[in-house]
Amino acid sequence: MVKKQFQAESKRLLEMMINSIYTQREIFLRELISNASDAIDKIYYKALTDESLTFNKEDYFIKLTADKENRTLTLSDTGIGMTQEELENNLGVIAKSGSLAFKKENEAKDGHNIIGQFGVGFYSAFMVADTVTVISRPLGSDTAFKWESEGADGYSIEPTGKDSVGTDIILKIKDNTEEDNYDEFLEEYRLKSIIKKYSDFIRYPIKMDIAQS
Ligand code: ADP
Ligand code: MG
Repeated sequence: MVKKQFQAESKRLLEMMINSIYTQREIFLRELISNASDAIDKIYYKALTDESLTFNKEDYFIKLTADKENRTLTLSDTGIGMTQEELENNLGVIAKSGSLAFKKENEAKDGHNIIGQFGVGFYSAFMVADTVTVISRPLGSDTAFKWESEGADGYSIEPTGKDSVGTDIILKIKDNTEEDNYDEFLEEYRLKSIIKKYSDFIRYPIKMDIAQS
């Protein structure tokens, strides 16, 4: 297992997310669901031109699994997945849709609305999780890799097993503090309402598997 450092820019965004005093932490789910949906779109578009590939609508979905006991929230998709290189390159850089330059410029004026308006991407997971694990198997490959990070210190990548093509993002939800309660991100009703608020337009089914306790 190799431990690697983030690029300086990524590290700064990451630190911003980790120490976020931003109240709308819930948008992490919008970001991860939009990535999952993009990943399924990529297979969909590939299938339009690649005759060896058929897109059966019922095979493509996004699934949320919460485990309250272990405080994990897992987002799985049946999208195109990532190779080892893609894990390194895509998760190690600033979101393309996120506008860090814009954010820097306007931080002084209005530091708070910007995260809501512009995607901050994958790193927003660190607003609610202290460890983020990504297990991905790319289309056309039977090997999977596991990317894992506990924050600004860096990340590790190692080979792992995965039965099907796609990506699982496992969030170890933060412990509650005196100021902040994170339990809500393991609650079905809460997750459903976040999805309704931000991800209603997603064209793939979003399934839920949440044990009640
Ligand atoms: P953006 O979506 O704006 O490109 P993100 O930070 O949200 O930025 O994601 C960075 C990149 O990581 C994506 O562009 C994509 O290549 C990759 N990625 C993230 N999540 C997934 C996923 N679930 N499946 C496949 N690729 C993903
Ligand atoms: Mg994104």
